[in-house]
Amino acid sequence: MLDLKIVNGRIIDGTGKKAYAGDVGIRRDKIAAIGDLSGRESARTIDAAGCIVAPGFIDMHTHSDLSFVYDRKANGKLHSGVTTEVVGNCGIGVAPVREENRKLLIDYLGTRLIGSIPVKLELPWTSFREYLNWFAANPPTLNIAPLLGQGVVRIAAMGFAKGMPDAAELKDMQRITDAAFAEGALGLSTGLVYLPGEYSSAEEIAELCKVMKPYRGIYCTHMRTESDGILEAIDEALRIGGTAGVPVQISHLKLLSQNMLGKTELVLERLARAERSGIEVSYDIYPYTAGLTSLSACLPPWIFEGGVGKMIDRLQDQAVRSRIRREIAEGLPGWQNFVKSAGGWQKFFVSSVRSEENKHLEGKFITEIGELQGKDPYDAAFDLLIAENGRVQMNYYAMQEEDVITFLRQPRAMIGSDAMSLSAEGVLSFGKPHPRAFGTPTRLLGRYVREMGVLSWEEAVQKMTGLPAQKLGLKARGLIREDYYADIVIFDPDEVSDKATYTDPKQYSEGIGAVIVNGQIALEKGCQGEVCSGRVLSR
Ligand SMILES: [Zn+2]
Repeated sequence: MLDLKIVNGRIIDGTGKKAYAGDVGIRRDKIAAIGDLSGRESARTIDAAGCIVAPGFIDMHTHSDLSFVYDRKANGKLHSGVTTEVVGNCGIGVAPVREENRKLLIDYLGTRLIGSIPVKLELPWTSFREYLNWFAANPPTLNIAPLLGQGVVRIAAMGFAKGMPDAAELKDMQRITDAAFAEGALGLSTGLVYLPGEYSSAEEIAELCKVMKPYRGIYCTHMRTESDGILEAIDEALRIGGTAGVPVQISHLKLLSQNMLGKTELVLERLARAERSGIEVSYDIYPYTAGLTSLSACLPPWIFEGGVGKMIDRLQDQAVRSRIRREIAEGLPGWQNFVKSAGGWQKFFVSSVRSEENKHLEGKFITEIGELQGKDPYDAAFDLLIAENGRVQMNYYAMQEEDVITFLRQPRAMIGSDAMSLSAEGVLSFGKPHPRAFGTPTRLLGRYVREMGVLSWEEAVQKMTGLPAQKLGLKARGLIREDYYADIVIFDPDEVSDKATYTDPKQYSEGIGAVIVNGQIALEKGCQGEVCSGRVLSR
């Protein structure tokens, strides 16, 4: 007797193999049978006529580290067919915490996407294992696949101290890294445009990567720059992977500087060359032409020395403001100058702020805010950062769609939303988030498969299932196969589409018939049930 049977659908199994007609039978949390199951008894049956039955989507790059802590039914991703989220990206995360630096970490999280949730941030854990155990005790709607943030390791060991670690500090970071991998981390992530990653050399990072090699961890990196120096940044990522002998995942690959638009070949050549030399390299992308970052990340790195409080103090000073104006106009060596490379403040609009008084600024461009307040855009940005204690998120228009498409087409491309799980209601319904938080997989399927024919259904599904599961080393996940965990999405190929837009982002996707997580129906006919059957996934 089966617990659940999905009948009359077309199966896309996640390997890239062509779709075929077949039923899927589930017993407990696993796929128990595939094929013609008309003769098999089942407690429940879902009719998937006209629909595709695929493995649940794996969102390769998210910032949902705290989403499910504050709302374990967070469902923006679930409504787009996601059943697993990879957290701990871009060097930042929420564990492990060292007591003496707990406050530094919490303040810092507040300036980053993860910490933009409008609540008093608390981290009720210390070790990496305690953080993961939190989910075992309070299961979320989706599975969590955890990376360890290199920035978190460095904050634990060194706070925001600048410069190279000494031998003892490096040993300490290696110990912290080893413990987190023993406790379940799947990879190490860096965010080298953010502090404290920015202070870290390739050699320092490679030393940590060597520690995770026996655990078969992967190196995921938000590179040193995605702007003019992106090719050198790719070289650095590959050098780290090559030195440590670990696979590399380039996070949210994109071309965003005006000088690099259209030059995808230069990037792809480098990746191909690395592969020929034996480095396993792949990347993830989000299918949008605007990005999201924090407003503070638009400022030169020195402003942040000593933490957020110091940044706020410095921004009061007119001489500091003039220096920032000059440095944004002229650039600094080795610094990703977001504002200049995107073509100015008029490309940036506020996605979310913390305070009620400034809520009316959400959705407005920095230049508009300047005009509204009778200031130049720089002063508008500085004053907003001070008023919000650094907690301002920004969308910026900088990419071109041809490049997104070229990257999407590559066999090594996976899909990552670069967003946190949000919701249309409750504590996770705030600000004007980037629409990718609600629409990434459904935009890929609707726009880039059905409408534009950039990818086949099978290719698109593989990029969100089999490929990432293999890269992460997830056991028995990512394929429709007997004895694999029953993480499944059923969608209508004629209807599947994203509804979230930049101006009205908190809208659930359409065309997702059902989402099953570990054998339990989490979403059916657009409605979320009471089920929270997500687990922490390890290797
Ligand atoms: Zn990033």
